[in-house]
Amino acid sequence: MNPTTSTVAAMRATALGRMTELLDRSPDPVGDEHARAFEAELADRFGTAHAVALSSGTAALHAALAAYGIGDGDEVLVSGACVVMTLVAIRLTGAMPVLVDSANGELDFDDLAAKTNPRTKAVLPVHLAGRCADLARLTAYCADRGLRLIEDACQAQGTRYDGRWAGTFGDAGCFSAKDGKLLWSGEGGYILTDDGGFAARARSFATHGFLPAPGQPAGSRLGHNYRMPEPVAIIARGNLARFDELLALRRRQTRHLLDAVAHVPGLTPIQPDARLDWNGYAPLLRVELERPREFCARLAEQGVANSVGTYGLTTADRLPSLQNLGLSACPAARADLDTTLAVVVHEGHTEARLDEMARIITEEARQWR
Ligand SMILES: *Cc1c(COP(=O)(O)O)cnc(C)c1O
Repeated sequence: MNPTTSTVAAMRATALGRMTELLDRSPDPVGDEHARAFEAELADRFGTAHAVALSSGTAALHAALAAYGIGDGDEVLVSGACVVMTLVAIRLTGAMPVLVDSANGELDFDDLAAKTNPRTKAVLPVHLAGRCADLARLTAYCADRGLRLIEDACQAQGTRYDGRWAGTFGDAGCFSAKDGKLLWSGEGGYILTDDGGFAARARSFATHGFLPAPGQPAGSRLGHNYRMPEPVAIIARGNLARFDELLALRRRQTRHLLDAVAHVPGLTPIQPDARLDWNGYAPLLRVELERPREFCARLAEQGVANSVGTYGLTTADRLPSLQNLGLSACPAARADLDTTLAVVVHEGHTEARLDEMARIITEEARQWR
């Protein structure tokens, strides 16, 4: 179950060598060798023309929206089943998020059409738990209406849809490298894109506008400090080099846990869409028990971390912190999230630990009233 020790050892040796070399150097205020190398390696690995390395997934979303000029007075259509970071990124630009109902990773295209209006500038599907909406249809929808398609692919590293990597369909695909995501580096994030002008603007935005993009006069734009630090880039490069293994491991872990709870009454594995080559981001179970959110919370108390029980995942219209935005209710997304047990799995989970998690889930479900 655990990654083959030889590739972990190789990754460690390379990363430690680079780190030692970095520490031996006197601090270089504009040193970005590893961040730029990570970008080149990402673009090569995922077949895009460009990649932009950043400090987090939220930074990637904010930089992508800002670099396409989205801001005050604009609306961004976003999956109803999303995380709070997606909405924060939209609000940071001054634009308004407009929730589109969604369930099981799929978007409600009728709701999408009903909410598209002249203020709409972009569609931001969120590939929750590594599953995605019909991306071919969504790409065509956006192209027909001149809308930007920006994917929140933070949980979809390694998923393919119709054979193509999630996060490479739209104008920009945004990813996180926070621990627990597939390609982890402690913190960090990145954008994949084929649009060179956009990549330059996003990179400029990530360093206070100090490196103006072509066509942008120096000092004409404000930005943020969203750079990927060099030590983080060293770890990210190490994990990108063994990405196939990380992906295969996550899939095995998810399969293992799902197999171990296959016959528990009240819990049914959620099957991904057939067009999807799913990354297995998290074991997903439909909870057909009374008070499913309480059930998830009870599991979290016993050390089985999960999206509802640990992170309180719910639709944004129900979050007190976003009440002032008047976000629309998304009934399908709400029912979906309320009854989905998404177990948090990471690289360190051994087969024995997965078996222990399965035992806790099984016992809790058997005695749940
Ligand atoms: C993790 C995550 C983010 C934000 O990533 P950070 O690196 O924590 O800022 C955004 N969207 C989704 C769907 C995520 O899973």
